[in-house]
Amino acid sequence: MSREQKFWGWGEPGAGPALPAHAAGVLREWLGVSGAVVSTPVAPAQVRLRDPVVAPDLRAALERAVGAEHVRDDRAIRVLRAAGRSYLDLLALRAGECEDAPDLVVAPSGHDQVEAVLRACADAGAAVIPFGGGTSVVGGVAPTRGSWETAVCLDVGRLDAVLDVDARSRRARVAAGLRLPELDHALGAHGLRLGHVPQSYEWATVGGCAATRSAGQASTGFGRFDELVAAVRCATPAGELATLGAPSSAAGPDLRALVLGSEGALGVITELLLRVRPVAAEQRYEAWLLRSFDAGCEALRALVQAELAPDVARLSDEQETRTTLAFAGDGGLAWRASGAALRALRYRPGCLLVTGWEDDVARRRAPAARALRSAGALPLGRAAGEAWRATRFAGPHLRDALLDRGVLVETLETAATWTGLAELHAAVRGALEQALAATPPVVGCHVSHLYPDGASLYFTVFARQDARDPAGQWTAAKRAAGNAIAARRATITHHHAVGRDHIPWLEGEHGALGIELLRAAKQRCDPVGIMNPGKLLPA
Ligand SMILES: Cc1cc2nc3c(=O)[nH]c(=O)nc-3n(C[C@H](O)[C@H](O)[C@H](O)COP(=O)(O)OP(=O)(O)OC[C@H]3O[C@@H](n4cnc5c(N)ncnc54)[C@H](O)[C@@H]3O)c2cc1C
Repeated sequence: MSREQKFWGWGEPGAGPALPAHAAGVLREWLGVSGAVVSTPVAPAQVRLRDPVVAPDLRAALERAVGAEHVRDDRAIRVLRAAGRSYLDLLALRAGECEDAPDLVVAPSGHDQVEAVLRACADAGAAVIPFGGGTSVVGGVAPTRGSWETAVCLDVGRLDAVLDVDARSRRARVAAGLRLPELDHALGAHGLRLGHVPQSYEWATVGGCAATRSAGQASTGFGRFDELVAAVRCATPAGELATLGAPSSAAGPDLRALVLGSEGALGVITELLLRVRPVAAEQRYEAWLLRSFDAGCEALRALVQAELAPDVARLSDEQETRTTLAFAGDGGLAWRASGAALRALRYRPGCLLVTGWEDDVARRRAPAARALRSAGALPLGRAAGEAWRATRFAGPHLRDALLDRGVLVETLETAATWTGLAELHAAVRGALEQALAATPPVVGCHVSHLYPDGASLYFTVFARQDARDPAGQWTAAKRAAGNAIAARRATITHHHAVGRDHIPWLEGEHGALGIELLRAAKQRCDPVGIMNPGKLLPA
């Protein structure tokens, strides 16, 4: 529990960049908002909380399990563990709506203590919500109680050790509550790194990334989080579920894969055996201008199918390119980058592509750059790529400032084959534009995780907030986008996970028998049904 975010937004108080001065003009012109601050988060004292409901026996058992000082029900900690970081979460937190905050926050320090907490909660009948970095954007850490009266937030923050490093095999055994920057820092002492860098890097934990099957910005080269996990150790109410960690195995279905993506519904991941890699001698980021989004997708398809893809490949569509350049800061690299791109855009319209090589640059970059040039990509240079890298964690900080100004800002993501990508892109954008027609939105999109057979699409939506019902406004838009995705047999989530918000589309993806199988696994691991009720599985 060392670092804490402000309760209503992203990052520690005062951290992160401010909106550039010229943003007000862009917001006025594009969205019809004034650009002035129209709402601010409530003060901590104004947050509304219910009194905690905790049976004395449960509290006593939890205190025996982890020590009294690690069983908390003070306002501050309950508010900090009340929600994740979706737009809907932020609307509620900023308004001080924390009635459903967990009754208790319990912080065990190791696997055995986690098991003891689960036993106590199963005996007393209390919901357990595992909480890593709390960066879920799908309601994954919402303290839903199911049929129980009490919600216990199981904070994994004290499970934060690097337990073992086998540099020879490039393996690290780590406790699940370790945050990604702290892990990379510790591995750095061995000349190693994980290389998993989601935009939530500053706060996400390794256990949370495993539980949600996260994908980092370099997933094209390094693989998504699943591929970085050699073995898992999970405490469930029915006992320990641990996998072996052989480099590969044919010993029946892969139980590691059952735990990855289980979102706290089966148990608590306490340890992970991770595949790590040496710290790179050289990294290289640059940017390019492609003639159109379709031309860019074709260029990326050719690259990845020829096994020439860079580790990071991020192609913005026409609207996201315009948005990126419009919001680019007025100093340093960002300005130089936008300057280069603006000059190029004057010469021809297009879409920004950022490429990043995180390893083995000399051998891999030249053939990829040749292929991009012959696909018509215009090089914008290294400063533009470095500008993206330097500002890649800025977005969530700026989101808080946009909410202050009455802007709806949210993202959603999916994935499809190369054949289906263009239609999916148009359909999701169309669904969002139609659902938000009363407050005409700006909908941009990028491709950012490449596979030989397809890619992910990541949409960012800006619109003027409907001040009367901002949550209803986004809920309707999200439903329309989700239905458009499902109608095209694309996935409802490439990396944000299911949580609470994507449950309506899950059966369409897995089928009735698939859902029954998941339910059977849950029933076996969690017979009383205390683990993260209302997440992952339909009621
Ligand atoms: C600004 C922003 C940017 C983001 N960018 C990305 C991105 O680039 N790529 C990406 O993949 N995701 C991204 N996300 C989503 C989110 O960061 C990921 O889902 C992340 O993996 C969650 O990690 P966490 O530690 O914060 O988990 P939490 O939010 O704490 O939990 C997520 C879910 O996992 C469960 N859980 C957590 N820890 C455990 C555990 N030890 N055992 C069992 N269950 C557990 C929780 O109960 C919950 O259901 C972003 C989110 C935000 C807010």
